[in-house]
Amino acid sequence: MPAEFDLIQKYFACHEVKNPVTELGIGDDCALLSIPSGYRVATTVDTMVEGVHFFADVDPFHLGHKLLAVNLSDLASMGAEPVAVMLALTLPEVNERWLKGFSAGLMGLAQQFNVDLIGGDTTTGPLTLSIQAIGLVPEHHALLRSNAQADDLIYVSGDIGEAGLGLKIKQGYQTTYDDQAFTRFNLPMPRIETGLSIRHIANACIDISDGLAADLGHILAKSNVGATLEWDRLPLSQAVKEYIEDTGDWQMPLITGDDYELCFTVPEKKAPLLDCEAVYVGRIDSQPGLRIMKQKQIKPFAMRGFEHFAE
Ligand code: ADP
Ligand code: MG
Repeated sequence: MPAEFDLIQKYFACHEVKNPVTELGIGDDCALLSIPSGYRVATTVDTMVEGVHFFADVDPFHLGHKLLAVNLSDLASMGAEPVAVMLALTLPEVNERWLKGFSAGLMGLAQQFNVDLIGGDTTTGPLTLSIQAIGLVPEHHALLRSNAQADDLIYVSGDIGEAGLGLKIKQGYQTTYDDQAFTRFNLPMPRIETGLSIRHIANACIDISDGLAADLGHILAKSNVGATLEWDRLPLSQAVKEYIEDTGDWQMPLITGDDYELCFTVPEKKAPLLDCEAVYVGRIDSQPGLRIMKQKQIKPFAMRGFEHFAE
């Protein structure tokens, strides 16, 4: 790609490294990190492809923000503190207006969380964006999907279904709450603080990317347990409540994704230690499967939600 080096310099390498873990950032063959003893490296990667994960007309600022946010959200769900990211860019052409917006969205969020961009790769091809995120978590305290126990209480860190509503609005549903829902859909905030504050308290955690039912379902499957959610307890915004009253579609907040709230389970005796915004939504039980209690009736709930390659 022509002037690859100049592009990196102009839009990405111009930011100084700030996190004390970063020993060497962009500019050599590899970056170097200095890992404090007693910590584990938590690392994750996510890719977004034009036409699959986003459309050509999407605001590049939103794209840069969201690409980083979804990766940081994975660190949050492990209870890890973000340190650094690497960025692989495949670009069909050099579009400076696009690069400016994209890097502003990405680097703005990175700065908020003291995350350094420490390297990456830049090539030509169909628009494809990947970030690898790197974080630290104290040994033995990573929040795994596989550690939920029968009788744990289940919490979510904030309103669910709002990003899903944003998508419904984009698809033509009309409401007066457009801005709020669009913001949740376009500019999700990773719940890093929550992840850090629960890592000595929670048994299991996941971030809600595909909907509470599907993502809690991953915890249940990995932990060999089941759960009963109380529909009346779900934290829903006024906008989502109105949507449900309007359409009767009460399952929407359970099966739409992109909220990036955390769902975690806590042993009952540790619940008083919780020191973050979180709402109790149900309980883990030993009977496999997901159930939902609505109008005093408990019924099995199919774990739908968005899945790639699903029929
Ligand atoms: P190499 O040929 O050794 O892979 P590159 O020319 O690809 O080196 O990259 C030079 C430097 O710029 C490296 O430190 C690399 O990590 C960094 N870099 C390349 N592309 C990006 C990018 N999209 N974002 C951040 N850093 C990048
Ligand atoms: Mg390279």
